Amino acid sequence: MNQTATHMQNEVQKRRTFAIISHPDAGKTTLTEKLLLFGGAIRLAGTVKGRKASRHATSDWMEIEKQRGISVTSSVMQFDYVGHRVNILDTPGHQDFSEDTYRTLTAADSAVMLIDSAKGVEAQTKKLFQVCSKRGIPIFTFMNKMDREGRDPFDLMEELEQVLGIRSYPMNWPIGSGKQFCGVYDRVRNQLELFQNGDHDQIVVRKVSGYDDPLVREIAGDYLYEQLQEQLQLLDVAGDEFDLEKVRKGELTPVFFGSAINNFGVQTFLENFLELAPQPQPRNSSQGEIDPTTFEKFSGYIFKIQANMNPAHRDRIAFLRICSGKFERGMSVKHVRVGKDIKLSQPQQFLAQERDIVEEAFPGDIIGLFDPGIFRIGDSLSQGAQDIVFDELPTFSPEMFSKVSIKNALKQKQFLKGIDQLTEEGTIQVFHTTSGFDELILGVVGQLQFEVMEYRMRAEYGVDILLHRLPFQFARWVIDDKLDPAKFRINSQLVKDKKDNYVALFENEYAMRSAMEKMPQAKFLETAP
Ligand code: GDP
Repeated sequence: MNQTATHMQNEVQKRRTFAIISHPDAGKTTLTEKLLLFGGAIRLAGTVKGRKASRHATSDWMEIEKQRGISVTSSVMQFDYVGHRVNILDTPGHQDFSEDTYRTLTAADSAVMLIDSAKGVEAQTKKLFQVCSKRGIPIFTFMNKMDREGRDPFDLMEELEQVLGIRSYPMNWPIGSGKQFCGVYDRVRNQLELFQNGDHDQIVVRKVSGYDDPLVREIAGDYLYEQLQEQLQLLDVAGDEFDLEKVRKGELTPVFFGSAINNFGVQTFLENFLELAPQPQPRNSSQGEIDPTTFEKFSGYIFKIQANMNPAHRDRIAFLRICSGKFERGMSVKHVRVGKDIKLSQPQQFLAQERDIVEEAFPGDIIGLFDPGIFRIGDSLSQGAQDIVFDELPTFSPEMFSKVSIKNALKQKQFLKGIDQLTEEGTIQVFHTTSGFDELILGVVGQLQFEVMEYRMRAEYGVDILLHRLPFQFARWVIDDKLDPAKFRINSQLVKDKKDNYVALFENEYAMRSAMEKMPQAKFLETAP
């Protein structure tokens, strides 16, 4: 192997690109911040929080993000930790998340599922889990807030299996919980990690011969010692075995108990995670599988476009996941969809709020490209004689719908142009009514997308829109040669998408199921055919 190839293999091997998935308030911001601190990004202390508290006057992220103090679109954070380069893809934890959140997950090679141990698996975690699970990527679980009175650890494991359908393997086990929580027993390294004297700032690690080591009794006390013996014996006998193959396929999730705010269990989590999580994985394309360790030419795809909400700066940032080859600043690559070469001169890498100009980057890295309006979500960029087109990104079924119209009828032209361009970006779906007047209906997965739409229509197209929320919750693309629109009258409505496909909107699951029963010959698809 030549020197360049070896260098490339090393760069790929040391990278870990993952997303943290959780329900709001589980502690994602806190965990992310601790991870950044371990990565030596000390200067960033408080940065993640800062974003939440919207203290960033200099930030030119979306205006709404600042006003509401949430992260509207996902950003990327990078740091080094003992021979690894870590890329964390931030997914908005707010319930106003959007399709962007889902798409960002396609750029990750693994996911960390963060759960509030008092609450268990919550709604948003479940949705995000399902997207990861469909891709079959490894999922690691961090059970957070063990310093609080939480649920029984066995209960939590049971819930992972019942609600998410994934088996789990506890990598460590809590000793007591809430006020009694004194530490964890690390099942992999046979060691105790302890809060010293209940002082939650100090963590002490003690090597032991096993969980029945006398030192464990000495430290935990008789009651907790007995409890721990019972629980760990039960796990040894009845629990799943650790199986890296299954972890890699997303069939078994390694579970870590800890407390992010006290920095407890975070470092061991990080170290185990880096060891077990996969390096940047191949992606499918028109040229077959593009494996970063063997395919030398540069390639990547855009999974997200972040608009600048400041009307004075129309520029946008397109987020590109590098799939193969080395990226160098100023290099020319082919924008495959438009068939032209473009020069990547001002790429940015994201370290929390700071934007650094990137000189070089490797597979698994995410770079932000300045976008004067030439990119779309899903665009592929590649070098070399053969164009590479990566598989289309998945689309997701909208769950919220609004009728959209304009306040000032004279602006019809700008209105249609705006709707057309913004839906083209793939951030929102548009439907036409099939009976009566031709009216437009927007479909999204998160409420915030409506607000962003309203904001951008005004800022970028000078159009004030009116949104009228509709009661539908489900959309299904209906494939049926003999479709009878009359069958969609009760608690449902038949509309068409941009490509004239029929889509049925339903108010509830019951309405959807009864339509399916009435039309056994029809196919009901969750996304466009
Ligand atoms: P996010 O919405 O998921 O980003 O959650 P945050 O990181 O903002 O945390 C939500 C709340 O939980 C905050 O008040 C945190 O201080 C708190 N929190 C986070 N981790 C822990 C933990 O380990 N223990 C306890 N008791 N509170 C925590």
